[in-house]
Amino acid sequence: MVGGSSCVTIGNGVRALQKELRSHGLDLEGEFQEAEAELNIQPCPEENMGPRTRLLMKASEEVGYDMRPMPKFIDFTRCDGCGRCALGCVSGAKWTSRNYVGDALRNGAKLETKHRVLEVLHRGGEVKGVKVQTPEGVKELESDLVVLAAGGIGTPVILQTSGVAAGTHLFADTLINTYGVVEGAQFGPELGMATIVDEFHDSEGYILSPFMEGPLDMLTNRILLGKRLQSRNLGRLVGVMTKIKDEPNGVVRADGGIEKPVPQVDVEKIESGYQRSRVLLEAAGADPKSIFRSHIRAGHPGGTAGVGRVVNREQETEVSGLFVSDCSVFPETLGKPPVLTIAALSKHLARRLTEEHL
Ligand SMILES: Cc1cc2nc3c(=O)[nH]c(=O)nc-3n(C[C@H](O)[C@H](O)[C@H](O)COP(=O)(O)OP(=O)(O)OC[C@H]3O[C@@H](n4cnc5c(N)ncnc54)[C@H](O)[C@@H]3O)c2cc1C
Repeated sequence: MVGGSSCVTIGNGVRALQKELRSHGLDLEGEFQEAEAELNIQPCPEENMGPRTRLLMKASEEVGYDMRPMPKFIDFTRCDGCGRCALGCVSGAKWTSRNYVGDALRNGAKLETKHRVLEVLHRGGEVKGVKVQTPEGVKELESDLVVLAAGGIGTPVILQTSGVAAGTHLFADTLINTYGVVEGAQFGPELGMATIVDEFHDSEGYILSPFMEGPLDMLTNRILLGKRLQSRNLGRLVGVMTKIKDEPNGVVRADGGIEKPVPQVDVEKIESGYQRSRVLLEAAGADPKSIFRSHIRAGHPGGTAGVGRVVNREQETEVSGLFVSDCSVFPETLGKPPVLTIAALSKHLARRLTEEHL
């Protein structure tokens, strides 16, 4: 859909890989500042934290974890805390990249939906346009400038079908959620990931954050098949997400097939996050015997057209005029929410392209 996965975020807006990108010659300080102002990023106010988040905040103080409000691109004057950010924001409180579409159209852009890019056309090392599948059939759109932004999986597929090597080094910011039952509690919906424990990111490779999945999420999460959850009331669950900086060991093939094994080093990070989540949940009043974890999954695919590998520091591929600006250009795993950093990178590229081409 227009807006891509920015439409399903939880509104978390944090800087990631700034130092690493600088070592590739990309100083994004100005772009980060601009994006933070534009997305109106602010730490989640205390009054927008739900009862489970507050419980975990208090528990983190007791066990000595440094839990802080999560920076969010949410307009808290409009957020009603329904906890359904990942289904799209019905109150329009959350920023998404769709916010730019109106301005773009007013400035002369033409938006073509239902156009699937099949390949990039190029000749003699120079980009010539894209071949697209439309409801009316396959078309060729001519251009001497193409910016791919089909995401960490879509972009390497297009590059490979266009004869540009890509698709290795796939990371995913692998995660699990750990849950415990607080007997006697009856929690309602609330904003997810309203706080973050970041202190283990650099040293141990993961973040922790309160995460309460709704019934719909649980349906897509294999836990529901487990006997333990079937007998439990979701309203008594408190959850903590462990999101790790995983090994960039995956591959996206030209046919869209994906391989992403979970190596021992990632298993150990997940296990460490799980143990710390247990400590937190027990301090929050969860029955230790009730604590369980979800299966491993992920929502941040990237690295598959990395800076220094597939694109240069100007985000240009070996094909002159063919650029990439999305999660696939990251040189290494973030282990943190990527949107703000993608926005900063895209601002950097946009500035250069408008200076040169407009
Ligand atoms: C449930 C969930 C919650 C998240 N919450 C957060 C959060 O709170 N904060 C955060 O920073 N990150 C969050 N993320 C991650 C974040 O949404 C993504 O990492 C980020 O949006 C990726 O942006 P992108 O531009 O790389 O790709 P995408 O957003 O995936 O955009 C790619 C677009 O290209 C389209 N496309 C793909 N192939 C083709 C093709 N061949 N032709 C035409 N179009 C194509 C896709 O349909 C899509 O619209 C979350 C992710 C999930 C799944």
